[in-house]
Amino acid sequence: MRSRTANRSGIVIRRRVTPAGDIIVTLLTPQGKLKAVARGGVRGPLSSRLNLFHHVGMQVYQGPQNDLASVQQAVLEGALPTLAQPERYAFAHLLAEFADALYQEGEFSEQAFELFAGALRGVAHQPDPEWVALVMSYKLLALAGFIPQTARCARCAQDHPTHPDPLGGQLLCRGCAALPAYPDPSLDFLRNVARRTVRASMDAPLPAEQRPALWRALERFVTVQIGSVHSWRQLVPTSTALSA
Ligand SMILES: [Zn+2]
Repeated sequence: MRSRTANRSGIVIRRRVTPAGDIIVTLLTPQGKLKAVARGGVRGPLSSRLNLFHHVGMQVYQGPQNDLASVQQAVLEGALPTLAQPERYAFAHLLAEFADALYQEGEFSEQAFELFAGALRGVAHQPDPEWVALVMSYKLLALAGFIPQTARCARCAQDHPTHPDPLGGQLLCRGCAALPAYPDPSLDFLRNVARRTVRASMDAPLPAEQRPALWRALERFVTVQIGSVHSWRQLVPTSTALSA
């Protein structure tokens, strides 16, 4: 039984206000994910600092009894104001939920933090935030060890599948498929995005009409492998043309 104070720096990926006016935040930090409570925080100066997507430095106190660390102080170290724009906010929100679902508390991952921070900056500043979010979602998944199988049909294991797998978000062969094959650029993306550099993927964006099918594949893959991510509903293109 011991208590301690620690300084941690990270990005707010989840924020919830309780009826008592406490702010419960989850940060992604280079030392892993951290959850903490700012007691009564909603009525004080911490309220505006502990906002979603803010990079904050916090002094947290871990008491001997309570398992949730409490925020003693917080300073704003960086913010990306353009993330408030509706067309960027939804993608940033999705990436934050992704990071929350993929990485566990106490799991040390400086690489995950850097990748996530880069993804948020890209969504904040790039002219095509949807493309950034799609590429970085697959990269975050790959870093956490989730890579869609693209070399074999997800149902019968035949080589070189080229069709969507509407249940698992992987790939099916022609014999197992009910949907038309992916266009070549989409196939190239699915087969290579996990190992290709972010820059190379950024330099070769897919046309908008090929993206809804990739979002759907990603949603299915994540739902099957990890569990549902709440932001899908507000974000993923709802066009049904390709799934009909
Ligand atoms: Zn098959």
